[in-house]
This record gives sequence, structure tokens and C-alpha cells, in this order.
Amino acid sequence: MCGIVGYIGENQAAPILLEGLSKLEYRGYDSAGIAIFNNNEIKVAKAKGRLAVLSEKTDNGKTVQGTMGIGHTRWATHGEPSDVNSHPHISMSGRFAVVHNGIIENYISLKKKLIDKGFEFISETDTEVIAHLFEYYYTGDILDTMVKVINRVEGSYALGVLCSDYPDSFIAVRKSSPLIVGLGDKENFIASDVTAILKHTRDIYYLEDNEVVVLKKDSVKIYNTDKEEVQKEKFTVDWDVSAAEKGGYEHFMMKEIEEQPTAIRDTISPRIKDGKIVLDDISLTTEDIKNINKIYIVACGSAYHVGVVGKYVIEKLCRIPVEVQVASEFRYCDPIINKNDLVIVISQSGETADTLAALKEAKNHGARILSIVNVVGSAIANASDDVIYTWAGPEIAVATTKAYSTQLTVIYLIAAYMAEKLGMFTSGEYARFIEELVSLPDKVSDILKSKEEVQYLASKFFNCHSIFFIGRNLDYAVSLEGSLKLKEISYIHSEAYAAGELKHGTISLIEDGTLVVALATGQELFDKTVSNVKEVKARGAVVMGVTTDTHDNMDDVADYVVKIPSVHEALLPSLSVIPLQLFGYYVASLKGCDIDKPRNLAKSVTVE
Ligand code: GLU
Repeated sequence: MCGIVGYIGENQAAPILLEGLSKLEYRGYDSAGIAIFNNNEIKVAKAKGRLAVLSEKTDNGKTVQGTMGIGHTRWATHGEPSDVNSHPHISMSGRFAVVHNGIIENYISLKKKLIDKGFEFISETDTEVIAHLFEYYYTGDILDTMVKVINRVEGSYALGVLCSDYPDSFIAVRKSSPLIVGLGDKENFIASDVTAILKHTRDIYYLEDNEVVVLKKDSVKIYNTDKEEVQKEKFTVDWDVSAAEKGGYEHFMMKEIEEQPTAIRDTISPRIKDGKIVLDDISLTTEDIKNINKIYIVACGSAYHVGVVGKYVIEKLCRIPVEVQVASEFRYCDPIINKNDLVIVISQSGETADTLAALKEAKNHGARILSIVNVVGSAIANASDDVIYTWAGPEIAVATTKAYSTQLTVIYLIAAYMAEKLGMFTSGEYARFIEELVSLPDKVSDILKSKEEVQYLASKFFNCHSIFFIGRNLDYAVSLEGSLKLKEISYIHSEAYAAGELKHGTISLIEDGTLVVALATGQELFDKTVSNVKEVKARGAVVMGVTTDTHDNMDDVADYVVKIPSVHEALLPSLSVIPLQLFGYYVASLKGCDIDKPRNLAKSVTVE
């Protein structure tokens, strides 16, 4: 989520770090900081806000002298964006400075332990435990200490660490967060992304998980966790700078589609402990859940489509009635809500004006507000009684993919959490649900591995004028999102229909060659949807079926079939949406559309 840069060499470090961070600002933008080693001391400068604030504060780095340093642009996960929560974080004695990208999942227990040992914490971040752990385990040997620290922490991290006892080297490591090493002439670098250092070198090492790198001005040594040196192959980057800004992808949208397994994993894993869903983030008690009369889900656009999935899943698992409404309607419909109703609002940016207004309307009626938001400290997060963050990271493409997927994941967590509290699961069912939930990232990865199949289908249909998406229940909910994805970026007219509803009017639009994308992933309604497929085929439609690998019958009725892995029925939307995102992307790409910035749209809709 954040951006990290580190430098050691003969030049002034601060301007190089600031310049590198400017290339990483898309990764995190709520605060920035640098730590520079000089005269056996570490000097830190950090500031809430965009990188420009830090640049101004340090006179473009001129006020912080020194030829070795680390820098960070933050995308807050733990603790609001503020000066004190910004990185680098410093150990109590000031001996260590740490920048971190990722989430330390066991930071609460580590923090307790360190407090018991007399360490004082000044920030709300998970990262600060790392700085103190370095001090706690310090043996005088920085490599040894790094290994001890990474053996203790769980979660994802890319770390850059300065130690004031080491005037001519610094150390870094990564696990499940990106970090590369740049090799220069009498200077070396670390960075979250090659864009940050491309101006200085194209020779890099890609680090594997838990490889530790010790950088000096004229040497780079990489070690495994047994402190044995590892020989790495040097890689020469041949991207041009602007392509590399998208991490080598042509569009942010594809990059974000590919980031979904990680984003889903980051959203789920900190919330599963000892085989149970733990929602430490919310204050809703079992008693509160038992007293819920009705749930409203209120959102806009794709987040509304997440709500439609939520209705089916929550009603199925919890047997609590759920109403889903678009925020722009809800806010003006004088909703009938009271204090025993729970209102779930969903917004990627946390700033969506209609959703914020709907939230306030619900609050005025005394309802309790639970929000699902991607941006820490955003207006919706601040105005809610409880917030569950999606850990999707910054989403740059206007058409959402990874935010949608992580919002779905949070809906599953909430539904199963409440169902368990309400005693709706047998213990076997609950365990199975969690097991299946945890399997989602790998299954999404599997679908992405065969994305060329969807590309091929897109090449057959990118000239269509109108496309229909049909499905029943959860498949209908995903059809809504598939249709939106296609139309917002490819400008092809498209509609999503509940498969059983088509014959009540819309089927008159089906003619020879009309493409119908039919989702039939669930077991119970599979045969019903197949009948609807036959109905449109009989009227000349070409059908692309999306189903699971357990349904062979689809091959007999549809012209083309995309198969997804099987998973618990309630979780199927997380998988079935992936081919639809890819389809929209490839169709738009073949039509030469501006995929990341489709006409007339904006990412964060802060007007009514
Ligand atoms: N979890 C850390 C924090 O909240 C790092 C976030 C990031 O990757 O920017 O400060």
C-alpha cells in the first residue's frame, strides 16, 4: 500500500528519496517521511498530507543532510493519517528508524509484551512495534537482530531500517509486500517499485519473501533467515518510465485486477483467529446483533452491487431481513428506520457524497451505522459507529475491481460473524465457511491464470452493440456488476436481468447474434437458469455461460463457457465476477477506450 525508498551512496540522500517517493505517491498519499543518517545520528522529517508538504518542510530535502536514508509515503492502515503516525518510526533510544509497508497482524500481542518490558509507544500504528522490537532484540549485530524480528512478526511487510551504530550500511527485508534492490555505481537503493529508482539505475534484484538485504555504498549482500548469503541474479529493466509507473501494466485496471488475491487475503487474514472470525474493529455485541430488526445496505455504483450480494448472503445465513438501496434514493425517501435497525454503508473512498448524506439521514432516525470503507480516516469512516476497512490499497483505475472484491469479502465476514453469534451455524458449517473463505485468494489467482481465455472471447464480441447479463439470486447480483463494468469502460450498452424476469419484457430485445452472458454458478438454481439460456438461444442469442467446474451441462447449451472453481455457494460472487471484470477490460482494450479514465466518470464522487 505505501511506498518505500532507501538510498546509500555519495550524493545527498534526501532529494533522491523525495524524488523517488514522488513516483510512488499512487501507492499511498496520506503522509510522508524520511530518516537520514548523519554524524552518528538519525534525523527524521515527516508530515501529514501529500509529499509536497514534506518537500516544502525540508526545502526539497536540503535541510536534512546525509548520504544514507530511508523514505515512506503512507497509506494508513493502523491509526489515522497524522504526523505522529507517519513513518519512519523510531525506537525508544533513537537507535533505529523503520519504514514499513504492510500490516503486522500480531502487533497487539507484541505491543503488550513490549509495554510490559517498559517500552513506550507514541503512535497508533502497527509499525511502531517493529522499531521497538529491533531495540529489544538488538545484539550489536543488525543482521542477527533483523532475523529475530522477522521470526516474531506475522503479516505482511517490506521494511527499511537504519541503525545509528551502522554509519555505512542499512538493512531491509520483504514478505508479501513488494521491495526491490537497485544497483548503482557507488550507490545502492531499495524501493517498493522500480519507478522510484529508474532515473538512477535499471539493474535490480527482486527479493524473495524473507530475504534480508544489507546495503553499503559499494556492495549489496542478501541473506536468508539462517544468515547465509544468497546469490541473486541481476535483472535489467527495459521498461520506459511511464509504463513502469503502472508496475509494467498497460493500465491500472489490469494491475488492480491482478492485485485482487493479495487484497482479498489482506482483508480476510487479520480477521480470522483460531478458526473464528474476529471483528475487533467493531463494537456490535451479540446482544446488539440479536436485537437487530432489519438491515439496510446503502451504497452507490459497484458498492451497491456488493450490497445486493449482501442481501442474499445475510438473509440466507442470518435470517434477518435486508433491504438494499442506492444512497441517492435512500437519502430522500424518508426511510422507515429506527434504533433497532442496522445500516451498512459501503464506499471505497469513504467520501461518496450521496452515501455520506444517506448515512446522516439514517443516523437522524437513530439507526446504528456500520461502514465498509477503503480509506482510513475518511468522512464516512469518521461518521460511523463502527468501521470495517477493506485493505485493498489505493485504487487508481476509475472502474473498481479490487475495492469491489474486498467489500464483498467484508460482507462475508459480517454475515458469517453475525450468523455465528445468532447460533445459525452448526460448528461444522462455520468451520467449512471459514475454510472456503480463506481459499478465495488462491481460487481468484487460478482464474487469473487463464485470463487469455476471456481475452479470446472479448475478441469475438467487442463489436457488439448491446449485451445482456442474466442470472438468478447471487448470479443476478454479479450480473449487475459485470454489466456495469462492461458499459462504464467499453461504452457498449448493456443490461443485467434476473434470468427469470427476461421473458416479462426484455426478451423482445434478443435477436440473432445478441450476446447474452449467463451466470449459472449455484447448484440450486442451475437448471432454472439453463432453461432461460435455452429460451434466449431459441430466439437467436449467442450465449457465453459462466459456471463452476462441477457443471458440465452448461457446455451442452451455451456457445462458449467460462469455468470457475467451486466454492461455498455464498462465496461464488467473489469468483464469478473475475471473468466479467476481465471481459469488460479486454472489450474496452480492443475498442481502444481510455480504460483507466472512462469518459464522464470520476473515481471518488463527492458531489450529489
Ligand atoms: N500498517 C502501517 C501503517 O498503518 C503501514 C501502512 C502502509 O503500508 O502505508 O502505518
